[in-house]
Amino acid sequence: MNLGKRHIFFFAHLIHLISSWEYKDVGLWENEYPSCGGAQQSPINLDDIEQSDNSGGTITFKRYNITPKKMTIKNNGHTVEIKPEWNGSSKQKPRVIKDGTEYEVVQLHYHWGSSDDSGSEHVFNKVRTSLEVHVVHWNPDYGSFDPEQGDGILVIGNLYITDDKYSAEYLNGVISSFPNINEPDSEPVEIEPFSLSKILTESWADAYLTYTGSLTTPPCSEGVSWVILNNPSTVDSRQMEAFRTIKFSHGDDHNNRPLQSPNSRQITRVSRFQSKLMIYFVSFTLMMENWMHLRNVEQEKKMQIQIQGKAQKTISELDCIMYRETSPMKKDENFKALTLKHIGMVILILLNTWTRNPLCFSLRISLSAFVIAQQTP
Ligand SMILES: [Zn+2]
Repeated sequence: MNLGKRHIFFFAHLIHLISSWEYKDVGLWENEYPSCGGAQQSPINLDDIEQSDNSGGTITFKRYNITPKKMTIKNNGHTVEIKPEWNGSSKQKPRVIKDGTEYEVVQLHYHWGSSDDSGSEHVFNKVRTSLEVHVVHWNPDYGSFDPEQGDGILVIGNLYITDDKYSAEYLNGVISSFPNINEPDSEPVEIEPFSLSKILTESWADAYLTYTGSLTTPPCSEGVSWVILNNPSTVDSRQMEAFRTIKFSHGDDHNNRPLQSPNSRQITRVSRFQSKLMIYFVSFTLMMENWMHLRNVEQEKKMQIQIQGKAQKTISELDCIMYRETSPMKKDENFKALTLKHIGMVILILLNTWTRNPLCFSLRISLSAFVIAQQTP
């Protein structure tokens, strides 16, 4: 064997070692990667595990609407993986904050199958959908990204069903790169960058489902925080056909791992809009209350003025009279009550924004009661 051939043999062997697992022998993964046989593996059928509607958890997206300065895509032999790059320091990257821990975006990739009714990894509402995107996040406090450290990883998953009426608009740019990367381990190519909020906004999910699981590919590290949008998005069949032009290593025709046992895990449902709706509701109620109170004072004054035979005055004159005839003491009390209400409203909004833990929840309820009980004299 000459030197050139030996190099080719060495590199082919190296590539084989790097991606030595395949979907055809998914049951053997745990021989080489023991975590794959663990008790907290992903994906799971989300219908099978106990759901709790919990107000204790929060998930906040920060800077998710910023378009990356650059995006590259590659076929790593198991999926198409997109790596976004942002301008500035790590603090400028989009982040997800879950229960007080911040995670930043590392990469996103897709799972699909050989037909439209098989492709997603998670199953929800008894349906396995055509496609599933995973946006992988990493807790920067753990240092540089390490797939072995499952508890530093948070993955956002979104499922796509095939519907020819509604394609996933942002996927067109991704798909246009496929002719250049359809062979496994091809060189990365640049694609038109898109903001990751597209993945969230194309779904009308009103809540997230969260549970603790694992990476769905070797090394199958456990402790991964999963966040799944509870309503699927849509993709059209032409877009799904494009995904199927991607060739995997080892001749695999799908890249979705079979369902794992849920064991004794729990899933938590975190409402997506509840805290925002609460803010709007409280603000609207307080504004209406203040407006009605001022209207009552005005009408009372108008009646007094009419009784005094001043009904022919114009509205602006009435306003002046109202101002003059309101006693300094009464004006002061009104002002104090309104100020108290507005301070209460600001604190309520801050409490809603910060956290939804039980202590703040009870504080919010007491404060709401206090603010509403503040009747102006
Ligand atoms: Zn994945």
